Amino acid sequence: MEVKRGTAGKPVEAGHVKTPSIFVHGLRLGDRLYTFILIRFLVVGAIVVGAFFAPVVVGIQDLDVAGLVSLAAVLGGCNVITFLVVRPYHRNADRAAEARRFLEGVLHVTIFIDFICLTVAIWLVGGPQSPFQAFFIFHVIIASVLLSTRAAYIHTGIGYVLLTALVVGTWRGWIPPHYPRGAVPCGGILEGRYILTLLVVQGMLFALTALLLTHLMNLLRTDEAELVDANEELSRLSEMRRDFLHIAMHNLRSPVGAVSMMLSNMTSGYGGTLSEQHRQWVDRSQQRLEELSRFIHDLQFLSATEAGALEEHAEPVDMRDLLGRLVEENQDLARAREHVMTFESDDEAASVAGIPRLLREALVNLITNAITYTPEGGRITVRVQKRDQRVRVEVEDNGIGIALEDQGRLFQEFVRVQRDDAPTTKAPGSGLGLSIVRRIVEAHGGRVQIISELDKGSTFVVELPAA
Ligand code: ADP
Repeated sequence: MEVKRGTAGKPVEAGHVKTPSIFVHGLRLGDRLYTFILIRFLVVGAIVVGAFFAPVVVGIQDLDVAGLVSLAAVLGGCNVITFLVVRPYHRNADRAAEARRFLEGVLHVTIFIDFICLTVAIWLVGGPQSPFQAFFIFHVIIASVLLSTRAAYIHTGIGYVLLTALVVGTWRGWIPPHYPRGAVPCGGILEGRYILTLLVVQGMLFALTALLLTHLMNLLRTDEAELVDANEELSRLSEMRRDFLHIAMHNLRSPVGAVSMMLSNMTSGYGGTLSEQHRQWVDRSQQRLEELSRFIHDLQFLSATEAGALEEHAEPVDMRDLLGRLVEENQDLARAREHVMTFESDDEAASVAGIPRLLREALVNLITNAITYTPEGGRITVRVQKRDQRVRVEVEDNGIGIALEDQGRLFQEFVRVQRDDAPTTKAPGSGLGLSIVRRIVEAHGGRVQIISELDKGSTFVVELPAA
């Protein structure tokens, strides 16, 4: 069956507020280390490939290929060990949090081994004149981002000492030089002034990088701590609100039931005949009570979707069957407003995994809204079809429609749209219906959209994963 759009207008999805997240802090130490290890495997590969290709492709001469490959083997071996040690903590935030000190230790050792390997690599590729010295900064950055301020400074210091030892050692002739021709600009000519300039510039670079990054990381950590606190406070308040809702609902339900029963006793004449005036008052009280109990009923569903009721076992629900029955059950209501309500469906089964009671509540809300917010003599079509592993339900009416600016917020609690030129908007209601629809649909892994145009009509689209 081809589902036609009855109304023009862009689909607007049910929106809700998302908790902000800072990407740096979203990653746990285990995950960060794991990423770091994967990058190091790439570096090992790059050293081996570079050692073989640099002489052949770029024409670098006197390159110590055996030395570089041995270095890659040592680095790769260490990395395999680290990989095996860290793997159990990858994507396991709780375990990583428990073993935080241990993982920090692993990180210290790996950064230290990296510095040693890097120093050897630089020695093999030109020492004081090697362009690869820049890789020292990379490790200063990693240490500053992943470790505490003190640890970052210690690693920066270690890196600088190693670089100084290499540069000064080569200059003084204590370390045999390696000058692969082509990779190093002026092999062999080392002056004290050059060595001094190099060490001062590198020292400043190391210090500034570490200072700036640790400062930034401290700011981010403070923000993160504030966010965590705010989040905890929010959860606490949300729990309080839920408890309050429960108590309020519980305490409201029984008196409303009791008063309603006493009023119907009065209308039935058990306490004597009522005057016309009394009968009117009683009728009006009953109407108001009816609205109040509908409101309590809505609140109950709202709290059911919050309190994890959806974790109850879901069961296969045939949406064709459910919608067919709902359309049938609501025909009287539609006829009372002189609407023509029809149901269309595919021949294919359209089952979803869900909780029938909740799905029913969501769909009833959409159908009764369509009946309510369409002026008398309207046309309402309920459709269901299966589309690429999703079941799509449409409730279309040719009613008053919804302005674009109102569409996004309709799914929030207690939002109602009142229009003086559309008397149907004055219908009694709580403004909770659509928020219940959204919660139920999202809790089932689906989504809701509105396609609507003012004064032309609305189509509410619910998409759920097919079972
Ligand atoms: P309630 O119906 O209790 O007011 P809902 O959350 O179900 O609460 O609906 C919120 C508002 O959305 C309604 O007050 C109405 O203004 C608007 N609305 C919902 N469905 C339709 C519809 N089919 N056509 C036009 N407006 C609608």
